[in-house]
Amino acid sequence: MSAALPTAPFRIVHTVCSHDCPDSCAVLVSVDGEGRAVKVAGDPSQPVTQGFLCGKVAKYLDRVYAPERILYPLRRKSGAQKGPRPRGREHEVFERLSWDEALDEIAARLQEIANRFGPESILPYSYAGTIGVLGNASMDRRFFHRMGASQLDRTICSEAGGVAWNLVYGKKIGMITEDFRLAKLVLAWGANIHGNNVHLWPFVEQARRNGARLIVIDPYRTRTAALADWHIAIRPGTDAALALGLMHVILNEGLEDRAYIDAMTHGFEQLAQRAREYTPERVAAWTGMTAVEIEQLAREYATTRPAALRMNYGVQRSENGGTAVMAIAVLPALTGAWKVRGGGAQLSTSGAFAWNKQALERPDLALASPLGRKARTVNMSTLGQALTELGAKPEGGPPVHALFVYNSNPGAVAPNQNAVRRGLMRPELFTVVHELFFTDTTDYADYILPATTFLEHTDIQGAYGHYFVQLSQQSIEPPGEARSNVWLFGQLAQRMGFPEACFHDTPEEMIRQALAIGANGHSTNPGMEHITLDDLKQHGHIPLGFHLNPETHPFQPYTSGPVPTPSEKIEFYSEILAADGLDPLPGFVPPTESRWGKDAQRFPLEFLSRKADNYMNSTFANLDSHRKMEARVRNRLEMHPADAAARGIADGDPVRIFNDRGSLRLTALVNGSVPAGVVAASLDWAKLSPGGINVNALTSERLTDIGAAATFYSVLVEVAKAEQKQMQEA
Ligand code: SF4
Repeated sequence: MSAALPTAPFRIVHTVCSHDCPDSCAVLVSVDGEGRAVKVAGDPSQPVTQGFLCGKVAKYLDRVYAPERILYPLRRKSGAQKGPRPRGREHEVFERLSWDEALDEIAARLQEIANRFGPESILPYSYAGTIGVLGNASMDRRFFHRMGASQLDRTICSEAGGVAWNLVYGKKIGMITEDFRLAKLVLAWGANIHGNNVHLWPFVEQARRNGARLIVIDPYRTRTAALADWHIAIRPGTDAALALGLMHVILNEGLEDRAYIDAMTHGFEQLAQRAREYTPERVAAWTGMTAVEIEQLAREYATTRPAALRMNYGVQRSENGGTAVMAIAVLPALTGAWKVRGGGAQLSTSGAFAWNKQALERPDLALASPLGRKARTVNMSTLGQALTELGAKPEGGPPVHALFVYNSNPGAVAPNQNAVRRGLMRPELFTVVHELFFTDTTDYADYILPATTFLEHTDIQGAYGHYFVQLSQQSIEPPGEARSNVWLFGQLAQRMGFPEACFHDTPEEMIRQALAIGANGHSTNPGMEHITLDDLKQHGHIPLGFHLNPETHPFQPYTSGPVPTPSEKIEFYSEILAADGLDPLPGFVPPTESRWGKDAQRFPLEFLSRKADNYMNSTFANLDSHRKMEARVRNRLEMHPADAAARGIADGDPVRIFNDRGSLRLTALVNGSVPAGVVAASLDWAKLSPGGINVNALTSERLTDIGAAATFYSVLVEVAKAEQKQMQEA
């Protein structure tokens, strides 16, 4: 699959959008006779993609052929300081070198660091810059396992919610996306469907045409909230309280489904006792809703059939985010919503894709490393601490002396940006970044290696918003000397002298490993036994086995057991948490950084560091076409009129937003998008933001209650009017 591409005069190639999005769209790339991609379009035959792409990727060729793309390996010039560089002048501190030189020099330096400080002083840093199975986690994992490098706990986005969902259901599986069209009530909880799960939206619209109501629970007035029948703007971090309040009303009014509870769940009596504490009046005081609204929501949710709940990862980005997901997740089990097709819930569908990760990632290679054991683990959500504090205590292991970044842009996305920058600025820290563009992270790199887009390499992909296995075929040659993750880490392994044959595997061989292709040519992975690689090459997308005949044999999870939890039931009472000595039931504890926290007097506003609708985290933020789409809220601090008036701030005024971790300057946008006491601004590249710093200057490295994940939405700040002059200086 990595051999020379066909030379037909014009061809259409099946690829898959590998950006971090539930939709995993099937993308048809039209390639002209010169081998140039001339069009990208959604595949009309893929039942979830339905022939369209989101606004971010519809313009994808702007990204592929952007003149700013990094096309060759680069090395920092001798004596050139690390640190932020103005956009367009980053190349001045780098010099081009060949791939052979770059690989030799990087391998030699990593070896030297491993010999001197131990291999755990080398830290990989990656996330979901690509969610293709190979590009996301395969040859890179083999490489770092074999080296004995620190392992990275990849917690920055979804870990709290994923772990919490699994405590209740055992596996990240939920409703069929296409079945949302059958719902009579769609409850979008922390889910901006229209903004970042847009292929669910047509099914929601279809349901609404058939009489369904759309209720959105979100502190921010998202695009989805603006289109809802009822937008409930609860206070940040109070989701668990609301879910428990709904349980209270449901149980108080006898609206639970006792037959379903008896057959399918574990711990009902304990949960009922816990829910009794959460009266509507108590919950109203936390959430900002009225008791009547809580009762109304509970009744509507419990008595409408089918009721579909779409929860997304926004819910779990607060300190109590794991518990919040647990509390929300039990609702469809309490009401028996799973029983009716078109009812139930979806957080993620990723648990249905049983890739052969052992073969892909080879964790066994750690035993062949100089350590002879699994290496220590470093949490990516505390990168600032990892780069500045690790090594201070012997039991924590060595300091980080080398950082290898790919599929991520921690200079922009990691919390507590000032601490991260202090770490990245360490002159002796050896930093390699595999990237497409000069970013907030490449400003600190010793070497930059050019990376590929999903058009330029072959991969296989599942999804976290549907149930199709898809093959992404390379459609164009990489520009310049851009190379894929698989190629990069295979080459580096060979330079390091690792003798294992797996470092020579081709992408096609690795796809066969991911599918665990058996002697008969079929996958042996559960749910994929009907899939062959040839069929994937021919069709591009194939549903998982349980979704092959949705009309005659619709998949309805959790309608019968066993459930893959310790009790083999849906766990209202978590046996895993109980065994760990933790509270096994959902409960509400206000976040430390909330209006109930001890610092709320000094920093009385709750800050939402939002993801921009037209970027993908930090991806796309450098493209002018995307920046224009984001113009309405870019560099703006959204405020409630009461909070603005209390500080003498008018719409359009320059403002300073600050806490003990940092400060940034934005322009006030006094609108109705946030409730009183809450302010919001969206993530952008620091180097493209006023003052060269972004919202993560304010976020903390505090971790969630479950899953040890980032807490981007538990942040206290104060806001003051700034002088125009200060703004210009910034
Ligand atoms: S970002 Fe999401 S919606 Fe947009 S094309 Fe990619 S998978 Fe589809």
